[in-house]
Amino acid sequence: MFKLSNRMNAIQPSPTLALNAKAAQLRADGVDIVNFSLGEPNFNTPLWIQEAAIQAMQQGLTKYTPTDGIPLLKQAIQKKLSRDYKLDYELDLITVGAGTKQLIFNAFMASLNPGDEVIIPAPYWVSYPELVRFFGGVPVIVSGSPENEFKLTADQLKAHITPKTRWVIINSPNNPTGAVYSQGELRQIADVLMEHFHVHVLSDDIYEHLTYDDVKFSSIVKVEPRLKFRTLICNGVSKAYAMTGWRLGFAAGAFDLIQALNLLQSQSTSNPCSISQAAAASALNGPHSFLIDWRQSFDERRTATHNVIGAIPGLSCEMPKGAFYLYVNCERLLGLLTPNGEVLRSDHDVCTYLLEEAKVMVIGGSAFGLSPYFRISYATSMENLMEGCQRIEKAVRRLVR
Ligand code: PMP
Ligand code: GLU
Repeated sequence: MFKLSNRMNAIQPSPTLALNAKAAQLRADGVDIVNFSLGEPNFNTPLWIQEAAIQAMQQGLTKYTPTDGIPLLKQAIQKKLSRDYKLDYELDLITVGAGTKQLIFNAFMASLNPGDEVIIPAPYWVSYPELVRFFGGVPVIVSGSPENEFKLTADQLKAHITPKTRWVIINSPNNPTGAVYSQGELRQIADVLMEHFHVHVLSDDIYEHLTYDDVKFSSIVKVEPRLKFRTLICNGVSKAYAMTGWRLGFAAGAFDLIQALNLLQSQSTSNPCSISQAAAASALNGPHSFLIDWRQSFDERRTATHNVIGAIPGLSCEMPKGAFYLYVNCERLLGLLTPNGEVLRSDHDVCTYLLEEAKVMVIGGSAFGLSPYFRISYATSMENLMEGCQRIEKAVRRLVR
C-alpha cells in the first residue's frame, strides 16, 4: 500500500465526476444508461472558437505563457467585465487558471488558515465544502428553504457571521437548484457585508449567461461596487461556450489575492493551456448571438423536464430560473418499497433504485448538502431527457406502500 499524506484523508472524490465516470463505465459494459449526472452542455464548442485554437497552434502559441495568462485573453476578460458587469478591473486584478475549479481551489489555499470559516448556502456545488476542509477551513453550511428557492437570506448570513468568517459563497445562477439572486436580494446581502469588513465574497458566476423567463444575472459587486476588493469573481468558459474540456477559467479581485493565485500557479501548473487561452479570448471577444439559440434550447428542455417530472406522483420540483439543473424533491418516495422489498430510506436509496431499476443516473441531494432531493442535469438532448423521464416515471410507479 502506498502511504499517502495525512491531508489526503480530508478530501473525497467529486461525486459529479465520479458518478459520470460510473455511467460511462456501465455504458461501456453494455448497460443502456441514461445519464443525467453531469453538468456539461451537449453542444460542441462553436466553430470559430475551435478555429482560433487551430490558428494559435499554427502561429506557434504552443509555448509557456505568462503565469497569469496571455495579454490577449486578459484584455478580453477586462472587456467582458466592463461589458457584462459594468465594472473596471486593471489587468493585474485579473488572472486565468485551468478551469474555475482550479481557481477556487487556489483561492482557498491562498486564504484559509485552520479554523477559518466559509459560509456555504445549501444546497451547494459539491466541491465547495470539500475544498474548504482540504485547506483546514470549516464549512458553515446554511440550508436554504424551498419557499426562497434555497437562496441565502440576509438574515441567515448575519446570523452565521463570526469573527472567524473569511468567505461567503454566492453562486448565482445556482448549481444544483437553478435559483438566481435578484438585485434586491444581493443588495440586502451586501448591506450585511458592509457591516462586517472581515468577510469576503466568492462570487461563482459560471452560469451567468444561462437565465430564463427574462430573469437577469446580477453580481454582488455591481450592486455594491465598494465590495470590489472584497469579492473574488470566479467565472469561466466551460458552460456558456461549451468548453468544459478546454479547462479555462478566470478570476478578478483584490491585488494581493490575485498575486497569491499567480504565485501558486507559478509553482503548480505554470500557466493554463496556451491554446485554450487563445480559444477563450476568441470566445469572449466573439459574437454571442449563438447563445440565444442555446438558451432557447435549454429553456425548452427545462420546461419539458419540469413538466414531466412534476407530474410523477411522489416527485416535485420548482421551475428553475437559471443554469441547467432541476432539484427534485423525493421526500414522498421515502418509506416506499421497491419491487425487491427494500425500503427507500434516503435520496441515496432513491438514486440507487433509479439506477438499478430504470438505468437512469441522477445525483442524490446528500452530495449537495440538502436532502431528500436528487439533481437532474438537463444539459443533454431532449430525446435523452424524455427517455430518462419516462423510465423514472415507470420505476416510481413500481414502488409500493
Ligand atoms: N462552479 C460551479 C457552480 C460549477 O457547477 C462548476 C462545474 N463545472 C464549476 C464551478 C467548475 O467549472 P470549470 O472548472 O469547468 O470552469
Ligand atoms: N459542475 C458540473 C456538475 O456539477 C461538472 C462537474 C463538476 O465539476 O462538478 O456536474
